[in-house]
Amino acid sequence: MQIRWTKLPFPARNEAEYRRGLNDWLARVFYEVLPEHGFEVREEQIYTAFRIARALTEGSTLLAEAGPGTGKTFAYLLPAVCHARMHGKPVVVASASGVLKAQLTGPDGDIQTLSRLLNLDIDARVAGNPADYVCELKVEAGDFWTGEEPEGWSDLIRWARRTATGARSEVPDVPDDLWEQISWDPSLSCDTCPRRGHCLMVAARRRHRDAADLVVCDHQLFAQDLLTRNDLLEGGMLPILPSYSAVIFDEGHHFPETWQRAQGWSLSQRRLKRTLERLEYWHAREQVAWRLEAALAAADGFLRALDLHTRPGEGKRDVDRTELLLKAASRLDRALDLLQTELVTEEAMSEGQESLAELQAHQNRIDEIRTALRLFRQPESVVWREGDELWVVPERPKPLFGGAHLAPGTPVIFSSATLEPEYQARVLGLGRFDQSRVGVPFDLARQSLVYLPPDGGAGGAGDAAVDAAVAEAVRVLHATRGRTLILLRSLAEVRRWRKALAAHDLPWPLIFEGDGDRGAQLERFRNEVDSVLVGASFWEGVDVPGEALSCVIIPYLPFPEHDPLIRERRAQAQAAGQDPFRAVDLPEMLIKLKQGIGRLIRTTRDRGVIALLDRSFVGSDFEEAVEAACPEGARRVSDLEEVAAFLSSEQ
Ligand code: SF4
Repeated sequence: MQIRWTKLPFPARNEAEYRRGLNDWLARVFYEVLPEHGFEVREEQIYTAFRIARALTEGSTLLAEAGPGTGKTFAYLLPAVCHARMHGKPVVVASASGVLKAQLTGPDGDIQTLSRLLNLDIDARVAGNPADYVCELKVEAGDFWTGEEPEGWSDLIRWARRTATGARSEVPDVPDDLWEQISWDPSLSCDTCPRRGHCLMVAARRRHRDAADLVVCDHQLFAQDLLTRNDLLEGGMLPILPSYSAVIFDEGHHFPETWQRAQGWSLSQRRLKRTLERLEYWHAREQVAWRLEAALAAADGFLRALDLHTRPGEGKRDVDRTELLLKAASRLDRALDLLQTELVTEEAMSEGQESLAELQAHQNRIDEIRTALRLFRQPESVVWREGDELWVVPERPKPLFGGAHLAPGTPVIFSSATLEPEYQARVLGLGRFDQSRVGVPFDLARQSLVYLPPDGGAGGAGDAAVDAAVAEAVRVLHATRGRTLILLRSLAEVRRWRKALAAHDLPWPLIFEGDGDRGAQLERFRNEVDSVLVGASFWEGVDVPGEALSCVIIPYLPFPEHDPLIRERRAQAQAAGQDPFRAVDLPEMLIKLKQGIGRLIRTTRDRGVIALLDRSFVGSDFEEAVEAACPEGARRVSDLEEVAAFLSSEQ
């Protein structure tokens, strides 16, 4: 092992010295340096940092659960930088969202803060998604609109021709359907592209490739890299991410689904039609035009059948794969096959011309559609519609380690406020793993209260059950004087609650998800202190310290409902002789419940109430698990006067 000790913040000439030096240095940073600079350091944070340091050194997989407010980011960044310097290869930090990525890498983000405080000069680079960069080849062909140009198109093309970075972040308001016309997509044959030498997307990739300490990307990009890495290397090409010494997943509870989706395909109506329509402007032989016309007709037939076989609803909608729909998929596949045969002849005729790269990109796009159609026709796949997209994923995702994926011994850290280690390890096919768990660094017994209604529950789906749950929630709101977040399971439920709440003539501003921009709604909830926010997607990503969020009402335990991926996991658990409820539904529910409860206490000064209106867990065999998800040591009450007294008492 090559030790680049000159770059380490402590001297080390061998592995034993490195381990000792790292432990001493971490202790000094957490107990002396950070407090000297005014940082509140917590025991939970220090414990997590040492566990992560050990996992990195031992090359193991660690699922590290640390409650909100623990300071998880510092806990993984410090050992990660040392690990990267020790191995001479960066550590990948994969975050679940752009917001998290910005929190890490912004000028006042955690990486810069540590770099300044500790004089570490951390070299961290963001690996942007290639799809967030312009493809010059596409820009060149950017005049293919026959009818009226969509609004903003000429401005976008003007920008694309003069941008120095090609990054979408320069034009954040451009809608997806316009952006997709000019951005990189996986069908492009970049390795044979004549513009490769000066392409902005390739240049952006080169920048993050040279990172010495950290490469920050999102979960999706990491999954894409892992799935394509070996093939690219074998083909003599560079993979998406540089060679790395470890990977850390921030908000790691999101990765299992990202990993499964990354192994499938999504196909939108718009993309399918556009892929074919773009070929109409290819001045090809008559035979191509005939085949194209047939493919367009088959695509129309398939899309019509797909609409007919998609169940109504929101989120992931079921698709009934009837004989009729499967036949429509086969017809489209056959039509695309014939079209591709003609395009092969076109390719031969375009040899040596710049247009060849564009033609190959068309072929690759059609290949992707055909791969999705083939998987769609196989029973061993999971299929659903989400918005305009048709998703097709293999029913069993490949395991994260082994095969063409992560090499055994690569240290992997899943960091999150809510993990269900056994469940997540099973979904990812992790064989061996360690786990560490620390709660929140707050005095929850003093700062919070759990309210359970004296009897009944919020279960049931009929109007009477909804009215009863709403009536109970209204009683809670009177005790808390608004200042509440109500967490529901779907937007349909939000709409039902809106109707039922209207009958109660409440004196506080009510904000319903779906009425406006999510960020603006959160801002209003934060500023109008007595307001009530009702939503289905606020279980995560809501950070409202202070009085405005004094209560979280959870009317129903958030068991997963109509989700084809979950249904498939249940079936697999059953086939393996497990109880699907305990193996899948319960851990899924607990992850979400813990996220929701975690919205309440964000600082040492917060006080608040968790109102669990669904008492169905009381006396059940999962009562203990729900209890464990509730604030530790907090008093359980069933009297709303106690709730009112708690919130108005001295802090
Ligand atoms: S290398 Fe060529 S095909 Fe790939 S993104 Fe750049 S311009 Fe487009």
